[in-house]
Amino acid sequence: MSLTRVGIVGAGQLGRMLALAGYPLGIKCLFLDRSAQSPGGQVAPILTGELEDPSRLAQLAAQSEVVTFDWENIAGKALEPLEQMTLVRPPRAALQAAQDRLHEKALFSQLKIPVAAHCAIDTKQDLLRAAGRIGLPGVLKTRRLGYDGKGQFIVKSEADIDAAWAAMGDTGLIFEKFQDFSREVSIIGARSASGRMVFYPLTANVHQGGILRYSVAPFASTLLERSARAHLQRILKALNYVGILAVEFFVVSGRLVANEMAPRVHNSGHWTIEGCVTSQFENHLRAICDLPLGSTRAVGQAAMINFLGKMPDREVLLGIDGLAYHDYGKEPRPGRKVGHCTILKKAAKDRNLALTNALKFIQWT
Ligand code: AMP
Repeated sequence: MSLTRVGIVGAGQLGRMLALAGYPLGIKCLFLDRSAQSPGGQVAPILTGELEDPSRLAQLAAQSEVVTFDWENIAGKALEPLEQMTLVRPPRAALQAAQDRLHEKALFSQLKIPVAAHCAIDTKQDLLRAAGRIGLPGVLKTRRLGYDGKGQFIVKSEADIDAAWAAMGDTGLIFEKFQDFSREVSIIGARSASGRMVFYPLTANVHQGGILRYSVAPFASTLLERSARAHLQRILKALNYVGILAVEFFVVSGRLVANEMAPRVHNSGHWTIEGCVTSQFENHLRAICDLPLGSTRAVGQAAMINFLGKMPDREVLLGIDGLAYHDYGKEPRPGRKVGHCTILKKAAKDRNLALTNALKFIQWT
């Protein structure tokens, strides 16, 4: 029997797009989030409360056949009781591995997926030693709760070490070798409870200041795509995963180096809403609700641009042929992801032209 009532922890834009994808399937989403005005709360019912509040989580579980996540940083001890009450998909082990950059890299290495040379850092001495052993430049990051380039410091030379420590100094850090990459790419796939897997085409991502600015897909590189799929397949199997999982890679000297994974729908997969037969949001719901997974075939050449800080002029952008506009219903704030647009064309050269044109009207603040 397939499932219909989905509880979603966190009601950000990812949750909102999940709920919207659920409507045509007859799937009913219920959110837990701090604010009723959150992006998800604007489109589906919401329980308001802290995301790790045991009584609120229990309420969510009691009203859901399966619980899933818009925000993956829920502590293991809050997740454990949930598992006694309902299905939790993706599994706790996947969330816990992704919550800590050190554990994540250990999992990748165990599965023979290349990662940057790295080292756990708890003292300034550790950082000095790591800089000597691993070499500079490097990136000092928080092991937990870092996202969109937050909680990172690039250590270019030894002269930066004091400043890096002053800015980040604490226990629970990781130092990794700076990757001189030619590109950043990501792969997204879904696994069902019965072990069926589907994979989206490889996506090329452009970040600035640690934040994704735009993505282009399908990124045509048969070799890289094959390798990315093989890596993702091993992770999905090892974690007995159910749902969508994304992995981000650096391309270094023509080879993939894994950066991080996200046990949820991912920003670099937003283009699949218009660009694929079945979107990542729908396939996540299909996977966790025991419905057949849908085709991940691309229906054209896509580009997705994030709107950061404030929404651009809707009338101007909608004048671009083949452009779809997504407003998350958020208050503008510098650096905040408030929406995105996706351009879909038949030919890559037309997609590239429209992307260049659209970028002229988008200001990242
Ligand atoms: P993260 O939070 O780890 O996803 O990092 C955000 C972005 O910062 C990445 O997408 C890269 O553009 C950059 N970055 C992170 N780690 C490294 C690294 N070791 N070498 C080079 N760039 C990095």
